[in-house]
Amino acid sequence: MSQSPHQPATADNGYITQPAPLENTYTSDPSLKRALEWYVPSAILQSVEPNFTQLGGEAVSEQVREWTADAERNQPYVKSHNVWGKRYDYDRLITTEGWKQLGHWGARRKVVSAGYDPALGMHRRTIQYALNFLYAPSSGLYSCPISMTDGAAFILSSKIGGLPSAHPFHAVFKGLVSENEDHWTSGQWMTERAGGSDVQNTETWATYSPLPEPSVSDPLGDGDFLISGFKFFSSATDANVALLLAKSPSGKLSTFLAPLRRTVVDNDGTPRQISNGVRIHRLKNKLGTKELPTAELELKDMRAHLIGELDQGIVTIAPLLNVTRIHTFVGSLSGWRRAISITKSFARARSTVGEPLWLIPMHLRLLADLEVKHRGGMNLAFFTIAIMGIVENQQSKPSELSHLPHPGKEANVVFRTLTATTKAVVSKMAVAGIQECQEAMGGVGYMDEPDEPEFNISRILRNTSVNSIWEGTTNVLASEVARFLLKADNLDILTVWLDRTLALIQAANLRVKLSTAWSALRERFSTESQSPTSILSDARRYMFTLAWVLCGTLLALDSERDLNPVSMEIARRWILSAEGGVGDMVFHDIIMAQGITPKGDEHLEWDCRIVWGVELPADRASGHRSLQKTVSKL
Ligand SMILES: Cc1cc2nc3c(=O)[nH]c(=O)nc-3n(C[C@H](O)[C@H](O)[C@H](O)COP(=O)(O)OP(=O)(O)OC[C@H]3O[C@@H](n4cnc5c(N)ncnc54)[C@H](O)[C@@H]3O)c2cc1C
Repeated sequence: MSQSPHQPATADNGYITQPAPLENTYTSDPSLKRALEWYVPSAILQSVEPNFTQLGGEAVSEQVREWTADAERNQPYVKSHNVWGKRYDYDRLITTEGWKQLGHWGARRKVVSAGYDPALGMHRRTIQYALNFLYAPSSGLYSCPISMTDGAAFILSSKIGGLPSAHPFHAVFKGLVSENEDHWTSGQWMTERAGGSDVQNTETWATYSPLPEPSVSDPLGDGDFLISGFKFFSSATDANVALLLAKSPSGKLSTFLAPLRRTVVDNDGTPRQISNGVRIHRLKNKLGTKELPTAELELKDMRAHLIGELDQGIVTIAPLLNVTRIHTFVGSLSGWRRAISITKSFARARSTVGEPLWLIPMHLRLLADLEVKHRGGMNLAFFTIAIMGIVENQQSKPSELSHLPHPGKEANVVFRTLTATTKAVVSKMAVAGIQECQEAMGGVGYMDEPDEPEFNISRILRNTSVNSIWEGTTNVLASEVARFLLKADNLDILTVWLDRTLALIQAANLRVKLSTAWSALRERFSTESQSPTSILSDARRYMFTLAWVLCGTLLALDSERDLNPVSMEIARRWILSAEGGVGDMVFHDIIMAQGITPKGDEHLEWDCRIVWGVELPADRASGHRSLQKTVSKL
């Protein structure tokens, strides 16, 4: 609000920036809608659209903001003893009402259950992850337990089919996919002090020690194995159950499921909850994710159930990583989208050097660059998710969408490559993108007000930066991708699919540029002229360059679906002008601009369409008050 000239500002009077409230992401942002329209048949999409609109609206509501503020303002803590010094039956993890409500809200809006809803057919994953895209940036990091809960549900869903109905795993699965306030969450305990990336260093041991007489009252708490060890990172410490890795006496890893608490019956017949051998050693202090109760846990004779085969722990738990990695990149993209929305709202409300910020050409170019990058990430993400639909459903016929890999080995290879690649690349892109959004807000962008989550980009940046560490660091994922493609005929299978997909691009200039880059990358990825060790040392460059080719391919195909002009310009920028892109960690001799960036006004006009969806106004900004007269002649 401005005041009359020459009147000094006071603490209460003077200029105040007043950005408009954030809009519903689902109704205001075209990129998610385009992805859904591409991968979900219109009849199914129409049937779930009201849920998206509702969730998108709730995500920017005052109620949800209050819950997220509460969760960050009042961070979790542990109480292990009462005032007299007596240890409780289990360590009490105190979390806020806001945190709990964020969990209930997610369950109600099906952020886990949609992935197991047969009514949504093979599109249930796309719908589920779109729900998570809307939920995650407002979830106060409850999206983390949701991710691990989904991972556990996924593992159990593949195991319970052959189990008798009284087996406790049925009840666990039901709890994990519940949409009511009694919903369960699951933790995932893999990382230990000796290593998170390399779980072979695990110092947690399991011994087979079944109870002589299993209790009737708590079959879940009476698993056949006793587990002891120390878990260095447990984020869902308030979970009902956990999936964990431990070594059997053979020294090999197995996967177990255990409840965090068991029920015992006292002599007078009263049931009582006690710790299932879990002691919270301490909660960790972290840069971000402060709402999340990340703990170190000591396990002593924890009763657990074996999942899958003994000594086949990695084989059993590996599919979970596909699920949690997808949650991770969806979370990164949604946090980044939220940061872009905040930045845009601010730019609309702010002026500087005598001009509105939203039109200042350099600022407009920065926002356009962010939109191009984000669109590339969205395309890669929802394509990966669509392949999960094929892999999970084992359908026999190829999809009508001819760019999707064929069911069977081809889909498996592309999916395996992409879950790791997309998680690694998008996580890095998002952190860089959100940092730009922070700077685009000036000094206010650096503020970190726990009470005001609506415009708090610092919190988004802190919370998103962990995404490149957990579920596999960038190095670990690059190493995985490179070793996977060096194995058997995986690279050949990927090549057959990608060559076929590149041939679908109609625009010759885009197709040739991408195909040339892919051929060069493919040729470089050869063990004829170099050792696998040499390839591994450059694995990040291979993975990021591959991601650039894939994003470009998908952007081109997306734009050719409806010849949407903005989508076509985004594809052109990505592929031909080397604008947008996946960051610096690429082979620069493979990804090069072709020098056909439109000059001056035309480029700016496209910036405006990409960012604001409107034509550049006639009274455009010049970039600085000293240039204002010059520009009006343009
Ligand atoms: C906030 C937070 C919450 C977490 N929550 C959980 C949880 O709930 N459950 C859980 O199990 N874990 C959790 N983790 C742990 C996380 O998954 C691990 O920190 C991560 O997997 C890395 O393992 P590490 O910390 O042991 O690092 P290390 O494995 O020791 O890695 C150190 C460095 O070595 C590099 N490196 C490792 N292997 C290779 C390789 N093959 N080639 C090249 N470089 C390599 C890594 O990239 C990294 O830079 C959490 C972590 C954080 C920060």
